[in-house]
Amino acid sequence: MARHFDYIIVGSGIAGLYAALMARDNADVLILTKGSIDEANTKYAQGGIAAAIAPDDSAELHLQDTLVAGAGLVNEEAARILATEAPDRIADLVRFGVPFDSIDGAVELSREGAHSRRRILHAGGDSTGAHIELTLSEVARHSRITILEHALAQELLVEDRTAEGVVALDARNNTTEEFTCSHLVLATGGCGQLYRVSTNPPVATADGVALGYRAGAEIMDMEFIQFHPTALRLPGAPVFLMSEAMRGEGGLMYNADGERFMPGYDPRAELAPRDIVARAIVSEMARTGSDRVYLDVTALPPGRAAVRFPQIMRYCANYGLDITKERIPVSPAAHYMMGGVRTNEWGETNIRNLYAAGEVACTGVHGANRLASNSLLETVIFAKRVINRSLDPERHPVEPYGGAIRLPDGAGDPARATGVYRPGGGELTRIGTPGRALLFAETPLSLASLQELMWDKVGIVRDGRGLAEAALTLAMWQSFMGRTPPPTDRPSQELANLLLTGRIVTEAALLRQESRGAHYRTDFPDTLDSWKSVR
Ligand SMILES: Cc1cc2nc3c(=O)[nH]c(=O)nc-3n(C[C@H](O)[C@H](O)[C@H](O)COP(=O)(O)OP(=O)(O)OC[C@H]3O[C@@H](n4cnc5c(N)ncnc54)[C@H](O)[C@@H]3O)c2cc1C
Repeated sequence: MARHFDYIIVGSGIAGLYAALMARDNADVLILTKGSIDEANTKYAQGGIAAAIAPDDSAELHLQDTLVAGAGLVNEEAARILATEAPDRIADLVRFGVPFDSIDGAVELSREGAHSRRRILHAGGDSTGAHIELTLSEVARHSRITILEHALAQELLVEDRTAEGVVALDARNNTTEEFTCSHLVLATGGCGQLYRVSTNPPVATADGVALGYRAGAEIMDMEFIQFHPTALRLPGAPVFLMSEAMRGEGGLMYNADGERFMPGYDPRAELAPRDIVARAIVSEMARTGSDRVYLDVTALPPGRAAVRFPQIMRYCANYGLDITKERIPVSPAAHYMMGGVRTNEWGETNIRNLYAAGEVACTGVHGANRLASNSLLETVIFAKRVINRSLDPERHPVEPYGGAIRLPDGAGDPARATGVYRPGGGELTRIGTPGRALLFAETPLSLASLQELMWDKVGIVRDGRGLAEAALTLAMWQSFMGRTPPPTDRPSQELANLLLTGRIVTEAALLRQESRGAHYRTDFPDTLDSWKSVR
C-alpha cells in the first residue's frame, strides 16, 4: 500500500524547504528531491533577496520597480503581496538562522539593476543562495520532515481533477514507488538546462512544468525566459554568473574594442533591466565580431570586491583572472523562467490540492521580465501562502480558481492568446514549413542537440522563421520519442521533460507576435497594447 502524507513537497530548493518547514508543526511532510538535498538553483544564487526595509524605501516603491521591469504583464495584486509581505518573510529566514551580512549591527543593503533603492539583503557577500540552502536544509534535516533524496517525481496522480499523490523514481536503482497525500506542492525550480549556455545547475530540467502539463495544469508565460547579461566567458571555465550586483556596485561594460556601450542603449546605462543589457551585449558582440564583452570592476574602492564578491573573485582567480586588476570577459546565458504552472495568489493551480511555489510557479509577479532578487523572495512569499491556505482554507478564503481572463483585442484562440496553455485537449499546435524543419530534424535528439536548437532559434533574439523551424523539429523529436518506451531512468525522464517544455516555450514565443520584456522578435520589434493581457 502507498505511504500517505499530509503534504508531499517535490523539490528541496528554498521554495520546497521553506514550505516544508512552515507545514511541519501541524502535518506529516515528505520532501522528494531528485538529487542530494542541496542540489538546487537556490545554492547558486549570488546577489541576494529583495525587501523594502530601508528608511527611504517602501513596499510601494518596490512594487513600482517590479511593475516597470515586468513590462506591462505583472499581476499587480500578486506583486503587491510580494512587496508588502517581504519584510515578514525575511524575518522568518533570519529566525531560521540565515546569516545576512550586516555593518555595525545593521543589515547591509545593496542595489541592483532596475531597483530604485538599496534593498538587496545578501549573505557571505555573493553566496546568499548557498547560505539559505544550507541553513534551511540543516533545519529540515533535524526536524520531523521525511526527506527522500534521489527520488524523482515522475508522474502526478490526479483523479477527478484532484491531486492525490505522485509516482517517484528512485534514481539510483530505477525502481518506482507511489506516495499519496492530501496536498501536493510542486517546488521543482526552473528550466535553465533547455539552453546550451546557462547559469543553472543540471537539476534545472523543467520537470514541474512537464509534470503539471501532463496532469492537466495550466501553464503560463513560458515565452519569457530571462537571459542574464553577464556570465563568465573564459576558455576552459564552466559558465559562472557574474552577479548583477557587480553593476549595482559601479561595474561598467565595455565592448571588444574597449568602448563603453550601455549609455548608448539606455539612459540607465549599466543599471538598465537585464533584457536590455543582454540584447545590447548581443548587438555589440555582432558589431565587433567578438564572442564576448567585458565587465570592469577595477575602479571599485580598494578591498570592496573582496568583501562583496569573494566567491566570484576566488572562482576567477582559479582561472588566472584577477578581477581587481583586469576586465572580466562575459556574455549572456539563460538564467530564469518567468512562466510556469499558473497559480493564484495562494499558490493554487487549476487542479484541486495541487500547488506550485518558487520558480516552477507562474504567480504573475515577474510579468515579462523579472526584477533582480525578486525570485528568492517570490519563493518564500508564496510558499508561506500555500501552507496557510492549505492548512486553514476557512481563514484564507479565495475566489474559486479560474476567474475572468482578460483577452487581447482581436486575438484568436483565447486560451492560447493569453499565453495560458490548457492541456488535455490533444497535441500542441504546430506552425511552420515542414520542408525546412526536416533539415533540423535530421539531427538526432539528445540533450546537446535540444540545447543547441533552443539557443539558436528560441534564444535572446528570435524571429518567426527560426521559431517555426524549432517548433517543427521539436514536434518531430517528440513524436519520435512517443514511439519509444517511456523513460525509466533520470536522464531520459529529464530529456522528455525538457523536450515537452521546449515545445511549450517555442509555441508560446511563436504565438506572441510582439516584443515585450525578455521576449524579443526581430519580425515584431514593437510592444503592442493588444498583447498586454494579464490573467
Ligand atoms: C547562478 C544563479 C544566481 C542567482 N541569483 C539570484 C539572486 O541573487 N537573487 C534571486 O532572487 N534569485 C537568484 N537566482 C534565481 C533563484 O536562485 C531561483 O529562482 C530560486 O533559487 C528557485 O528556487 P526554487 O526552490 O523554486 O527552485 P530550486 O532551488 O531550483 O530547487 C528545485 C528543487 O527541485 C528538485 N527537483 C526538480 N525536479 C524534480 C523532480 N522531478 N523530482 C524531485 N525533485 C525535483 C531539484 O533537485 C531541486 O532540489 C539565481 C539563479 C542562479 C542559477
